[in-house]
Amino acid sequence: MKYFLLWCSISFSLLNVTAQNFDDYFIEKTLRIDYIFSGNDHSETISLDQMSQLPQWAGRKHNLSEIIRDGNGQISVFSSESNKCIYKNSFSTLFFEWQTTPEAKTVRKSFENTFLIPYPKEKVWVEIKLRDKKGFYQLAIRHLVDPNDILIKKKGASNPTPYHMIHRGDSTQNCINVVILAEGYTQVEMSKFRKHAQITCDEIFKHSPFNKLQDKFNIIAVETPSKDSGVSVPRTNKWKETALSSHFDTFYSDRYLTTSNVKDMHDAIAGIPYAHIIILANTEVYGGGGIFNAYTLTTTGHRDFNPVVVHEFGHSFAGLADEYHYEGGDIFDDTYPHNIEPWEPNITTLTKFAVKWKDMLAPQTPIPTPIESADKYKVGVFEGAGYSAKGIYRPAYDCRMKTNTCKDFCPACQRAIEQLVKFYTE
Ligand SMILES: [Zn+2]
Repeated sequence: MKYFLLWCSISFSLLNVTAQNFDDYFIEKTLRIDYIFSGNDHSETISLDQMSQLPQWAGRKHNLSEIIRDGNGQISVFSSESNKCIYKNSFSTLFFEWQTTPEAKTVRKSFENTFLIPYPKEKVWVEIKLRDKKGFYQLAIRHLVDPNDILIKKKGASNPTPYHMIHRGDSTQNCINVVILAEGYTQVEMSKFRKHAQITCDEIFKHSPFNKLQDKFNIIAVETPSKDSGVSVPRTNKWKETALSSHFDTFYSDRYLTTSNVKDMHDAIAGIPYAHIIILANTEVYGGGGIFNAYTLTTTGHRDFNPVVVHEFGHSFAGLADEYHYEGGDIFDDTYPHNIEPWEPNITTLTKFAVKWKDMLAPQTPIPTPIESADKYKVGVFEGAGYSAKGIYRPAYDCRMKTNTCKDFCPACQRAIEQLVKFYTE
């Protein structure tokens, strides 16, 4: 049971005293670990697939052993000598979404998942825990990694995919490194991709708090070429050869565009400094998705490209939840059980609201806040969020995480993003 924000503020003050140095346990390289997640609607297994070494570390160097978003899963690294936690990160994965589909009741399937950790100096234990339906984290795999293992293949040391920095912050060392990859752009379409990558960068920085935190980011455009132009649309039998093999109809849902070829994606950017991934797909069809600490994938030819890419980055970078719900009164969706507090910072079931944005409410704000009085309260507790019209609440009448027409993130989302950026960089 975690009182998340409270725990956070306590751990921050402790960190000032006990913070470990990056150099104590790690060298300036990345250990990339590929896993296979497999299972069905009620069980999951994680198996180690491959390990590789990348030539630099482009992730955070601060608060290494802490997290501030619980995520649907957590990867932790422990010193084999002291058993002390020396690195931790949280994530989500397409596999968890698949587990909620009807197909998962009928068959076991496997999904690739890749994690980046700083390259350890000595042997370490690596552990992955997954969040169960009650919100507790259960151990799924724990294994020893010897940094001198001869089977850890070195990748990315030469001839990386062509890339250029489109936004430079303070330095690679203290910045959050974001890469933007081309999907479904042929070699001759790369100038178009460069334009779309620049729009992505500009749109993100138009939104508060990213606008005032621009120095904290490096953004790199990676020109991953595809043989064919556009992306695959299985329902019309259109299969294309593209850099990342993405396709619509993920889980038989028309608009859901994802890639399952996670290892190919990471191979394409081996040697380039990255910690967060945005994939731009060259198609006019509306679609995409964002998976926390995995990737954003969104389409560029659609008129709503600009707001959608920022919305999806809200998911993949900041772990924000969707604040919309399906219209039609009493439509329920079981993504978020109503008796458990979700880990995402911008929705609540009111089971542990104190750890969310309660401190941002003006005195006497009614909980829940009637939608008719939305004009009166800048921050409230409005029913309808996380795909459910009832039982889940959002912080504002509208937000970038709710509609494409809203201009900004709501105050609770803005605070959550800012906290995360500071956590990564300070
Ligand atoms: Zn919001």
